[in-house]
Amino acid sequence: MLRRFAFAAALTLAGATGAHADEARTAQYFDAIAGAPPLRTAFLRAMPKGGELHVHLTGAIYAENYIRWAVEDGLCVRRAGMALVPPPCDPAQGTEPAAILDTDRALRGAVIDSLSMRNHSDARDSGHDHFFATFGKFNASARLRFGDMIAEYVSRLAAENTFYLEVMASPGMDEARALGAQAGWSDDWNALRTRLSTPEMDSLVTLTRKILDDAEARKNAILRCGTPQADPGCKVTVRYLAQIIRIFPREQVFAEILFATLQIKSDPRVVGLNLVAPEDDPVTLRDYTAQMRMVGFLTDTGRATNVALHAGEVVLGLVPPEDLRFHIRQAVELAGAKRVGHGTGIAWEDDSTGLMAQMAQRKVLVEINPTSSEQILRIAGKDHPFPVYRRMGVPVALSTDDPGVSRIDLSHEYQRIARDYGLGYRDLKALARNALEYSFMAGPSLWVGDRRAGPCAADSPAGAPAAACRAFLDGSEKAREQWRLEATFARFEATPWPTP
Ligand SMILES: [Zn+2]
Repeated sequence: MLRRFAFAAALTLAGATGAHADEARTAQYFDAIAGAPPLRTAFLRAMPKGGELHVHLTGAIYAENYIRWAVEDGLCVRRAGMALVPPPCDPAQGTEPAAILDTDRALRGAVIDSLSMRNHSDARDSGHDHFFATFGKFNASARLRFGDMIAEYVSRLAAENTFYLEVMASPGMDEARALGAQAGWSDDWNALRTRLSTPEMDSLVTLTRKILDDAEARKNAILRCGTPQADPGCKVTVRYLAQIIRIFPREQVFAEILFATLQIKSDPRVVGLNLVAPEDDPVTLRDYTAQMRMVGFLTDTGRATNVALHAGEVVLGLVPPEDLRFHIRQAVELAGAKRVGHGTGIAWEDDSTGLMAQMAQRKVLVEINPTSSEQILRIAGKDHPFPVYRRMGVPVALSTDDPGVSRIDLSHEYQRIARDYGLGYRDLKALARNALEYSFMAGPSLWVGDRRAGPCAADSPAGAPAAACRAFLDGSEKAREQWRLEATFARFEATPWPTP
């Protein structure tokens, strides 16, 4: 018995040493190919990246797919502004069937450029304006293809060896705003909440759950999930963030936030909320503090509902300096944000270093979207606060924001960060792990600090977990995904890297 135990212990030790050696070998290879970007691209596409925490579903889709759907769905293209619009198509009104995009190559190219940042030129319009204008131009197509959009994105993520997605989407938000407009405004928020807690609001929550059911069924059908030909995208765990559009009158935004909290309570797939649309929009700037207070009020400052917020997606020059002084702080302190999207403007916040110290202490993660920051705000490289956040101990993760609009993928953001800040493989691995650690999935973590702890501490992710670890994983959705990531890392690091 003793001998058998000793043998098992020796095996575990050998496994651990092997895993450690594989990681070291992988890190070495990654350093060795620093001067060969194509090898880095291939490496980072295959590297497990944990998850994607900041992506807008409609912005994730490539224009080519919007065009294909527009043709199939009988939509029209409007030459003025190069946008996809609903039928009927009427040449007298400047619209014609989208089918023309299958034959007119010049027009097709111009529409792809218009629906994305491809070939964007500052001489024509600003990156900021062009970027945000794309959403209105593909919306007619996006509206009809919720499930198709999820299918496209999870399939792409899986091809990048990444299997967790928290996606921002807005089903039901138009209707929630209509209920808010009907209810009107009151400074008594308890009364306002009561006024909005109607059977109509309840049915909207039920209807939205059905919309998600249908979208997932459609996604599963497209990817042939559950069949031998299943697309790897079927293996991606999908969670949703209720996406509140913040550039509407305050009674409507209040209703959206309330609706989001009800949705989150009633549907475990919806794990948190986020406020979106340009942060420099006049309505956002006017109502910013009020909106942060509303989120705080309706979510018990993030305690009752997970809150992630776009904050600090502004820089000097874009807005007056006064509007740069408090957005991130209020997102954290008034609204109770557990995650901040972008955080690019941190340097202009009052007591910026004190704020970062607070974020580090409270473990508020910043979702870094390098390409989006460059395209919208022209902030990149040394001017971007990514290394400062790291130095101050603020947790960070990488995400894409709108990869279809930006014409990128998640691997590209890893590549960019590694190149711009000289990060090594283990640094990137920590970023990938953060994408699950700071996800809004339920259950305790596999990690305590940077060590695996609890019942799975001694188990090797390269093998099957022992009974105690298995039981722990069964009880925690988050730990399960984290274990899967570690297993994926183990397989990845066992790659026989060529000599560069
Ligand atoms: Zn965003």
